[in-house]
Amino acid sequence: MELTVEQVDIKKAAREFAEGEFKDRAKEFDEKEEFDLSLHKKACEHGFVGTFIKEEYGGHGLGFFEHSLITEEFWRVDPGCGQAILSCTFGAEMIQTFGTEEQKKKYLPPLIAGEAIMGFAITEPDAGSDVTSTKTRAEKRGDKFVINGNKMFITNGCIAHYLLVFCMIDKDEKDPHRRHSVILVETDRSGFEAVKLSGKMGIRASNTAELSYNNVEVPVKNLIGREGYGFYQLMDFFNRTRLHVAAQGVGLAQGSLEMAISYVKKRRAFGQMLSDFQGIQFIIAEMATRVEAARSLYWRAAYLLDKGKPDSALISMAKWYGGETGVYVANEALQLHGGYGFIRDYDIERFYRDAKIVEIYEGSKEVEKAVIARELLKRVF
Ligand SMILES: Cc1cc2nc3c(=O)[nH]c(=O)nc-3n(C[C@H](O)[C@H](O)[C@H](O)COP(=O)(O)OP(=O)(O)OC[C@H]3O[C@@H](n4cnc5c(N)ncnc54)[C@H](O)[C@@H]3O)c2cc1C
Repeated sequence: MELTVEQVDIKKAAREFAEGEFKDRAKEFDEKEEFDLSLHKKACEHGFVGTFIKEEYGGHGLGFFEHSLITEEFWRVDPGCGQAILSCTFGAEMIQTFGTEEQKKKYLPPLIAGEAIMGFAITEPDAGSDVTSTKTRAEKRGDKFVINGNKMFITNGCIAHYLLVFCMIDKDEKDPHRRHSVILVETDRSGFEAVKLSGKMGIRASNTAELSYNNVEVPVKNLIGREGYGFYQLMDFFNRTRLHVAAQGVGLAQGSLEMAISYVKKRRAFGQMLSDFQGIQFIIAEMATRVEAARSLYWRAAYLLDKGKPDSALISMAKWYGGETGVYVANEALQLHGGYGFIRDYDIERFYRDAKIVEIYEGSKEVEKAVIARELLKRVF
């Protein structure tokens, strides 16, 4: 599979932006667990944010493939900064697919213009992988929903202007897949509180928060999609966003591989360059092969998605393998740096810490394997 000329240009521009704008500040953001949001605004101005949003809603008329390519390039340069910038549209995929025309016109254009940040609150302190067990309640009272509950590990929780909230709408419904709805809640509503989670292992430039909703009132028109169909909407949503996570793993792996190659070409041991040893060459070969395989998986999955043929099994394969490749390659690359890899001055130490999240969020690797198996077992061969 070959990229179009436009896609090659987008990839190159994203790489140049990342190297020029945040490469040198990545260590500082990681140490302080903060990010400079003017960089998000700048990335919006350059057209890197929300490329999957359609032109009529302020987007650039590109696809999920292009968004994934940008994600790969940003993560290749720095995972934490890549996440801090590109996660700012997390949830827009759901609004675009299931929102009303009015909701799309109101909530999508500000994300592209860099005037708003959003997120999606699904996980709770007692329920992550098992989303049907989430308990945050949305009770309908007249023309309002009243929301009560807590959400955990929510990206952009402290900085978002609006968040989608996965709420239980009908606790008596027998089918656990028909109990939830997705509701958009602006973060300036009374009863909402966000507390920053500090001390993350990786992607520390990205904001993560614990949220509480205490009698938060929102108009019923803030319902996104169909009442009671939140679970099905969420599965559709993950078909889009898991691709981006696959690209995160590939970008991180590619960046780690490049650091490793450059290091073994400079470091000497036993009177030779490290790169002269066949044992080292085999490690590099294996790292590079895995990166190519993971990239091919997400490219094909993204290509099919943009053609309107999403393949859940393929997307989950790309997400699982992209995450595993990120962790594997970052680990091997650190090993090749020897003791220096263990020291904060070296970027590989940060990449190694950043890698693990790709195997956890938006469906852990175990959840991805469950999706793959479920899809395959349904098929007739
Ligand atoms: C930095 C960060 C950012 C995040 N951002 C968001 C966000 O923006 N929005 C959001 O809603 N959530 C977010 N999350 C939450 C994330 O999606 C969850 O942590 C993840 O889905 C796993 O859920 P859990 O932590 O409750 O683990 P659990 O579901 O408790 O799982 C624990 C372990 O058991 C495994 N496991 C669970 N069930 C099974 C099974 N049936 N078979 C085999 N293994 C199983 C899991 O794979 C995992 O390894 C974020 C998390 C982090 C750390």
